[in-house]
Amino acid sequence: MSDNRTLLFLPGDGIGPEIMTEVRRVIDWMDKRRSVSFEITEGLIGGAAIDETGVPLPDETLEAAHAADAILMGAVGGPKWEVLPFEIQPERGLLGIRKELGLFANLRPAIVFDALAEASTLKTDVVKGLDIMIIRELTGGIYFGEPRGIEKIDGGERRGYNTLTYTSPEIRRIGQVAMDLAKKRSNRVCSIDKANVLETTVMWREEMVKVGEEYPEVELSHMYVDNAAMQLVRNPKQFDVIVTTNMFGDILSDCAAMLTGSLGMLPSASLGAPNKSGQQAALYEPVHGSAPDIAGQGIANPLAQILSFSMLLRYSFDMFEDADFVDQAVQNVLDQGLRTIDIMGDGMTHVSTSEIGDAIIGELEKLSS
Ligand code: NAD
Repeated sequence: MSDNRTLLFLPGDGIGPEIMTEVRRVIDWMDKRRSVSFEITEGLIGGAAIDETGVPLPDETLEAAHAADAILMGAVGGPKWEVLPFEIQPERGLLGIRKELGLFANLRPAIVFDALAEASTLKTDVVKGLDIMIIRELTGGIYFGEPRGIEKIDGGERRGYNTLTYTSPEIRRIGQVAMDLAKKRSNRVCSIDKANVLETTVMWREEMVKVGEEYPEVELSHMYVDNAAMQLVRNPKQFDVIVTTNMFGDILSDCAAMLTGSLGMLPSASLGAPNKSGQQAALYEPVHGSAPDIAGQGIANPLAQILSFSMLLRYSFDMFEDADFVDQAVQNVLDQGLRTIDIMGDGMTHVSTSEIGDAIIGELEKLSS
């Protein structure tokens, strides 16, 4: 692994800059105590970019994104920019960077920390210890397929149509991401389709089987999406890595996210093709938005952002030990009963963004001594 690891920080809007500050502190600590150094540049995206440059994704940001080994983003958007035309709203910046970097694989872990198991709407024993990974294909499928539209038909009525389309290489490359990831976890992949009804997903299943043959050590299973939705709620711990289409993944990953009961705790990664430096393009961000209702008050939960950084260590740099370190620090802080407002519970200690950051650094110190 090269010593020269370059990161692009895109704090974005709302609580983005506040929670990114806490990641900086973790990186500074790692730099001093574990000799893990990164070259960090900071760029503009979203509303912050609109205010400075008039566009949500300036060329300089895109250039820096192509050059970086990995990107860590906060979140974009807020009421201030909602009045702008749709094409230049902050969220266009996010969609633009995903498209430009060809980020075709969206990784969403659903992890239930023991200390938060009671925050789920499901029974504690159903979710306690849950640790699954949903991989959603992000650049193909029915959200992008042509033809699409709404047309007039006889009698003044209308017909709407979208097209579910995948090519075999698109399926195989997301399948390979799932298999590679499974090898870093517990060697199990469940591919979700609707092969009993939709031809495109018959092909999806056939291509997944082909990919599976390249990974004999990984156990590959298949499930129809309606059953998968049911199983995720009935017994989510039966899954490890799930791989599925854009639309099925959109729905199932939100369902899985809610099993954990805490938006402020959920990280994500989006992976693409190799970039200029030969590294797989990768953008890491929390699942939550810019939370404008609490921005600037110093009360946001930075843990999803810190866990996004831990995913970055794991998936862009194979720094498993350092990632485990960060994850363990988060776990310990929760075990201490420290809670930001979004995960506050009876008998817990309410802390601010920087106080939970202090506690994370304290735990990192303890873990390394
Ligand atoms: P949101 O996730 O920003 O907030 C939903 C609720 O959860 C709010 O009450 C908020 O205060 C709370 N919350 C979210 N993250 C939190 C955290 N880390 N700590 C404590 N509380 C937290 O969703 P929203 O309100 O629907 O959207 C707000 C803005 O964010 C919109 O402009 C939306 O378009 C944008 N958004 C951006 C992204 C992204 O950049 N990836 C994703 C979703 C929404």
